[in-house]
Amino acid sequence: MPRQATHQIGITTLEDISALILQSHDLDETLRNIVTLVAKRMRSDVCSIYLLDADNETLRLQASKGLSRKAVGKVTLRIGEGLTGMAAQKRHAIAIEEPQEHPSYRYFKETGEERFHSFLGIPLFDRDNPLGVIVLQTKTPRQFSKEEISALSTIAFQITSIVVNARLLDSIRQHEEESQRVSQALAQAQQTLTDTEKTTETSPQHVLTGHVAYPGVAIGPAAILEERLGFSDILHEEEVDIDAELKNLESALEKTCIQTIFLEKRVAERLSESDAAIFHTHLMILEDRSFIRKLQTEISNGHCAAYALEKIVADYIEVFRKMEDPYLRERATDMEDIGRRILANLVGDTSGHTLHLKHPGILVARQILPSDMATLDNEQILAIITEAGEKNAHAVIMAKSMGIPSIVAVNGALKHIAPEDNLIVDANTGRIYINPLDSVKDEYQRLQLDQTRELCRLEEYRDQPAMTSDGERIILRANIGLISDINVAMRFGAEGVGLYRTEFPYMARGDFPGRNDQYELYSRVVREFNGQPVTIRTLDIGGDKALPYFSLPKEDNPFMGWRSVRVSLDNRDIFRTQIEAILMAGCHGPVKLLFPMISSLDEIRACLDVVEEARKNLQKEGVNYSDKVPVGVMIEVPAAVRLVPKLANEVDFFALGTNDLVQYLLAADRNNPLVSKYYDPLHPAVLQVLYEVTDAAISKGKGVSLCGEMATDPATLLLLIGMGLREFSMPAPFIPRIKAFLKGVSMEMACRHYTEIHRMDSSTQIRGYLDKVLSEIEMGD
Ligand code: PEP
Ligand code: MG
Repeated sequence: MPRQATHQIGITTLEDISALILQSHDLDETLRNIVTLVAKRMRSDVCSIYLLDADNETLRLQASKGLSRKAVGKVTLRIGEGLTGMAAQKRHAIAIEEPQEHPSYRYFKETGEERFHSFLGIPLFDRDNPLGVIVLQTKTPRQFSKEEISALSTIAFQITSIVVNARLLDSIRQHEEESQRVSQALAQAQQTLTDTEKTTETSPQHVLTGHVAYPGVAIGPAAILEERLGFSDILHEEEVDIDAELKNLESALEKTCIQTIFLEKRVAERLSESDAAIFHTHLMILEDRSFIRKLQTEISNGHCAAYALEKIVADYIEVFRKMEDPYLRERATDMEDIGRRILANLVGDTSGHTLHLKHPGILVARQILPSDMATLDNEQILAIITEAGEKNAHAVIMAKSMGIPSIVAVNGALKHIAPEDNLIVDANTGRIYINPLDSVKDEYQRLQLDQTRELCRLEEYRDQPAMTSDGERIILRANIGLISDINVAMRFGAEGVGLYRTEFPYMARGDFPGRNDQYELYSRVVREFNGQPVTIRTLDIGGDKALPYFSLPKEDNPFMGWRSVRVSLDNRDIFRTQIEAILMAGCHGPVKLLFPMISSLDEIRACLDVVEEARKNLQKEGVNYSDKVPVGVMIEVPAAVRLVPKLANEVDFFALGTNDLVQYLLAADRNNPLVSKYYDPLHPAVLQVLYEVTDAAISKGKGVSLCGEMATDPATLLLLIGMGLREFSMPAPFIPRIKAFLKGVSMEMACRHYTEIHRMDSSTQIRGYLDKVLSEIEMGD
């Protein structure tokens, strides 16, 4: 066959195999269809596929076009036996004319094999492990060309992925059957128990636990936010039209299949067939009867298609993740990808939509991204529960600044909580009650009342200045992001804004705001704070903060990557426009300009150049702006710590960003629960660095504040005051508690305790010491 024609056969056969997967429903049927197709395309009298049994030694005829049907499943050879076994053993293609003359030839009478005059066998390999052999045989003598061997090798590769994936699905099925057996046995045992020990209150109750991110108690229905699969809407399931949802599912699956074939073709053309092979997994899953049946069952049980999809895909992912083989574990990502694509077809692309909870509820999510928080209707969120996420994840920080009780790192939240389940979130102890008993609910309603009373008590502090018992003035400002934070900050008595995270409003939009929009926004904040300072930080995207309309590159290590001021300096127009808007807002009150993530003098000088450029631009345009906007840098990269004395020659103030500084100093991702024990603000090295910065800034006569979350912990705050810090910025709901706490401490105590811990060399020791101090303060020391 001519070279081009053979290549074409390779490509079109690959496409057709993809289509075949769509028509067949199990591995045997798929293989049967494949051998028929390949025999035809390769003009061969016989095409057979042999697969290796679980013993890893026996090759069994699994499908054949041309040999007797009765032989399928029966004929076996050992690796190394016959020409087929030889291909598997030698791990390369065997192409010979007049095969029966070869010393390794073996005849199987069950196959009804006639005399064949040519043989081509290509081994199938899954990574390095033999999986089987695909064989062509012709009645007329034929010399297989290099191109034909190469075309069949590509097909063999594709078959490998089909077999691997089919077996994978099979193992999932087995796993499920096993789990079903176990749960049936458990249910039976449970029933026996209930029958024998009937209690007075029998309603089911489930309790989950997690880490408290912001304290409080909330009671209400669950609203599930599933972002993991790209769900960007709360799923409302009040009026599920089952027929419509089933149709919706069918059409989404169809569309996804077509898109997958297209994807495969494109990747095969642009990259390689091996890169494209992954889409076979996807097609097989999309066509898998039991996958579809499970989705349909969920819908028939009254759920919408998106919910059904999320649930079933999550179940599959869990099974994949538990697999021992790391390669198979990775398949969880495929499942996630498929889920995301089906979902996109189910609900359309909803990016940029504003999300609404229909009624007040408790938001439950695997993870909440800052962009979710930026677009969610926070008035309706009574509490937040996340499976992942650490206390210092940005979305949690936003929740805290809104005063929303939050529990993070709750294992199995999405599995155990269904939409509209009745929940009690006890974000004091970190417990979540699902469909609680009435007695528990009554108790929590009483607690909620107490909580409201406590908040009223703390209200007293709103208009009082923050001061230690011996009259040292401490400044407590608010960290804000969204406009809604202004009211919260006012309500809790913040003295202006120590950190305005401008990326949050950027996240709530569909595109970059222009200068005027930004000016309107910033000046509104400045005016509302009525003469109190507002520190506006320039855009700090990257890390865990993304903008829907500004695609950041995929990085292995985004917190160490193209982040924050680095992005700004590389997008000078966007950067300058923002600075212009900040300088313009300076006409409405005391504004400070803050640059995040500075790590060198060159970098701050480059920022100052942009400020200069912005000024000139405004002058040229004749636009009003303030010439008296102090400029500061955040100290959140370890390199900047040592540069404080030099940076002091360039800027007016410093803001300690301990959320990042701690993660960079201790090499512990602020969002990763696996390393949360390493993320330790009381680590002696952290405290030493904080002291160093404070001391250097003060001795240079520059202002220094701390705007990381660690200031919200009273014991830590005591040390920070002891080391010389007087200004803090924090989520506003913490301010009254801190004011109340300060009433009970003196400067003498703060300095004494700081001197004590300064001598200690482990955070366990420091923490133990502080716990003791704190309990003494509470007892009125
Ligand atoms: C910090 O890093 O401490 C900080 C305040 O900034 P962000 O949390 O926004 O990164
Ligand atoms: Mg930071």
